[in-house]
Amino acid sequence: MIIGKIKNNEKRIKFNLEIKCSNCKTEVPGGMQTSEQYYGSESFLKEIEKFKKNYLCGKCRDKKRIKQKNKKRN
Ligand SMILES: [Zn+2]
Repeated sequence: MIIGKIKNNEKRIKFNLEIKCSNCKTEVPGGMQTSEQYYGSESFLKEIEKFKKNYLCGKCRDKKRIKQKNKKRN
């Protein structure tokens, strides 16, 4: 998963983030990438925080998708 935007000519930093699904609390190994310049910056940290708060594992994401579909149908 990529945090921020990485331009083609920018160096990438790979890092691991401990992520928990915000719904079922399952721990998910997060192999993340960001640009060297962005890594550790204030907006980077904010984005990580937001990402963690909103993260859903695959299962929960599917459930949400199905729910939204049903909503439209009704
Ligand atoms: Zn989940």
